[in-house]
Amino acid sequence: MLDSVYVGRQEIEAYVPITGEEAIEEVRKLAAALRGSRILHLNATPYGGGVAEILRSEVPLLRDLGISADWKTITGDKEFFGVTKAMHNALQGAERGLTEHEKEIYLTYSTRNARLLEEEYDLIVAHDPQPLAIPRFHGRGETRWIWRCHIDTSEPHPGLWEFLRPFLDDYDAAVFTMPGFVPPRFPVERTEIIPPAIDPQSPKNFELGTATASRVLRWMGVDTERPLLTQVSRFDPWKDPLGVIAAYRLVREEVPGTQLALVGSMALDDPEGWEVYRRIRDETAKEPDIHLFTNLTGVSNVEVNAFQRLSDVVIQKSIREGFGLVVSETLWKRTPVVAGRAGGIPLQMEGGAGGFLIESVEECAQRALELLRDPDRGRELASRGHDLVRERFLITRLLKDELALYASLLDAA
Ligand code: UDP
Repeated sequence: MLDSVYVGRQEIEAYVPITGEEAIEEVRKLAAALRGSRILHLNATPYGGGVAEILRSEVPLLRDLGISADWKTITGDKEFFGVTKAMHNALQGAERGLTEHEKEIYLTYSTRNARLLEEEYDLIVAHDPQPLAIPRFHGRGETRWIWRCHIDTSEPHPGLWEFLRPFLDDYDAAVFTMPGFVPPRFPVERTEIIPPAIDPQSPKNFELGTATASRVLRWMGVDTERPLLTQVSRFDPWKDPLGVIAAYRLVREEVPGTQLALVGSMALDDPEGWEVYRRIRDETAKEPDIHLFTNLTGVSNVEVNAFQRLSDVVIQKSIREGFGLVVSETLWKRTPVVAGRAGGIPLQMEGGAGGFLIESVEECAQRALELLRDPDRGRELASRGHDLVRERFLITRLLKDELALYASLLDAA
């Protein structure tokens, strides 16, 4: 059997004070048509990264809404996840595709995981490329299949895309974050655009008083009296942590005493993380004001909440990005953001809300400085960002969009 991820309980009712009764009623109505449906979310990791973040919040809410929802992860060893990370990179446009041997590894694990999928479901959502080939080896059966792509696949590596494309023939629908991400010659007829969203009631995003948040950061070793820049993301070259360090050094020349926190989680399906982490650690070993934190040294949801709340500026210097949940998470806490103009980030900072979009180390440093020097302006931008997140990027909107799609695929609308 595939591993099930244990999720706690959550009630949709808890969101009424945030979104109002009407929005929740709409979600309830859509869910009522699907009551009792068996829906599975299938991905590669129970923690680390945006997909796990969303499912951890979404699955308990689907259950509360009367849907029989499960979350399962595929199994694989280091070699398999090395292959799927190379695949992820190639889908985002990296030059290296897969060798024949790597393709074989992918197919071997896909077959194995397909066999481990034993229960029957009315609808299965496979997230990202790791479980993509499962319906081929499992057989479609009576199930409706959705491929949910979270990454920027606008210009996939041509060789890899040739390899993956045929597996999409088994899907009834595909979901992307933005229209521009749909790859060329995409074979699934039904394609929906649904941007991800954050959960305002999760420990990562719920209200956390300044006094408590300060205590958390002091415990972590941050001086809360001095300026703090933070980037929260996996240790991944696409998130450009070395670029963040370079920008920070420029800022520190102008505002001595500024600190940098790089908060990164290690995901089960991302073996590249440790390599990047070690490079950063060596690079910054002699700079005590650069703090490196991981989920393995005690940084979890509440700690990330505190960092996003109390940093003077949060940076997300992505070069390629699917959505970048961390941007909405930060803006929800009314902290200004300086972020790479990549993937779904500009969606979250439309019309200049939230802070600044940048394209280089120098621009990043300059914008961060601007916000450090003019906190009132930072607060004003962040507050506009907060309003945009409330309007478009909360999990209640995501539920509404996804439930509508499920209902239509299951003829339950
Ligand atoms: N995250 C975390 N701890 C960390 C680093 C990241 O909890 O040390 C979370 C972060 O808060 C966000 C998710 O991981 O919820 C990352 O999602 P995002 O969409 O920004 O990027 P992805 O990792 O999916 O590319």
